[in-house]
Amino acid sequence: MSRKSEHHGEVPPTAGLPLRRKDLGLPIGGADTNLAASLASFLGVEATQIECSGTAALVVALTALKRLAPERDEVIVPAYTCPLVALAVVHCGLKLYVCDLQVDTLDMDIAHLRRLCNSHTLAVVPTHLGGRVSDVTAALACARDVGAWTIEDAAQALGARVGADSVGTLGDIGFFSLAVGKGLSLFEGGVLVVRDPVLRKACLQASADTVPRRIGWELRRSLELLGYALLYDPAWMRWVYGRPLRKALRRGDWSSAAGDEFDLSIPLHRVGRWRQAVGIRALSRLPAFLAQGTAQAQRRRERIAGIVGVQVLEDSASVPGAAGVWPVLLLRLPTGASRDALLNASWGSGCGLSVPFARALPDYERYAHLVVPQPDENLSNARDWASRLVAISNSPWLDDARFENFCRTLAEHCERSG
Ligand SMILES: *Cc1c(COP(=O)(O)O)cnc(C)c1O
Repeated sequence: MSRKSEHHGEVPPTAGLPLRRKDLGLPIGGADTNLAASLASFLGVEATQIECSGTAALVVALTALKRLAPERDEVIVPAYTCPLVALAVVHCGLKLYVCDLQVDTLDMDIAHLRRLCNSHTLAVVPTHLGGRVSDVTAALACARDVGAWTIEDAAQALGARVGADSVGTLGDIGFFSLAVGKGLSLFEGGVLVVRDPVLRKACLQASADTVPRRIGWELRRSLELLGYALLYDPAWMRWVYGRPLRKALRRGDWSSAAGDEFDLSIPLHRVGRWRQAVGIRALSRLPAFLAQGTAQAQRRRERIAGIVGVQVLEDSASVPGAAGVWPVLLLRLPTGASRDALLNASWGSGCGLSVPFARALPDYERYAHLVVPQPDENLSNARDWASRLVAISNSPWLDDARFENFCRTLAEHCERSG
């Protein structure tokens, strides 16, 4: 539960909205359980669709598109992204192609994307990583040129906007995650937004046809949500997050430490009324929580900008009016060696330092086989990002004194490499 920051508590790796005891009551009536409608009004869209995870939302979207264009079977995702995205594509029986990133932004390398797009392409998946708004327009144009759809991965960007519009609404389909650590949480959950009403109906139909109810899964998620609500506290974080993290680090297993080791099979089930009611109550506090996070991030970006050699990632400069959200601050270090040294010094210290993902997709032992090999492409930018990025939590539990402490360690590692 939300308690004041304790100096020695464990800071969670991202700023998740803490639940309150009063969120956990049983639902009263109809509107009290219609999370889809509440999220539609929060996002400023006509309708949303609730699924049991961001991954499940992507599975449903791809299933709908596949039905509309059965001759298309290729999906293009950034080479540096959440491995669950790769699992969703393969789950749908589709071929996974990875696209390199740009040198200085996390957007897809458009020249590489153009080489990958063809008449077999079903969808392109531009991604708003770490709350940063990425440039969807260029990817959208590549997709349109070959008759493919665009699915915006806004899993980490609920609340991010471009002007008055939510991210996820520029492409054909967008999805958000309601997993632990992604802002608003139902422990696991996902949201689909679909611009075109015909495509929206197709997504609802795909879900109705392929997602079973499975009460057992919903019961399990309900208990997990209850545990999360009770233990999301600096004092308990050490047990839920810190201990498993340090165990993985002692093994030298950075992929587990980053939370990248997922079960290869994707649970698909319906989200029950109680979890939806919890989500609706918490959602009422989300705007204020995000505003507080933005203000904190603003101060901290300025502090880090004063450290020579570190780049704080901002929203894509080519998106006018972009206003992302700040679950973390993404930082690029001068070299892979300085990044690794910083992680060795501070990853296990409980200050909320982590990496978005441990590797580029083809470089995970666990996931390499999912990716269609491209012998002539080197993915050098994606690998460079994977080797130099860190994420520092923007949780309010990382207080100013500990943040300053982190900044000094960061500066030491950057100077050493300079
Ligand atoms: C977490 C995440 C997903 C998957 O969302 P889940 O709700 O965890 O299934 C997809 N893409 C990105 C970029 C993510 O961070």
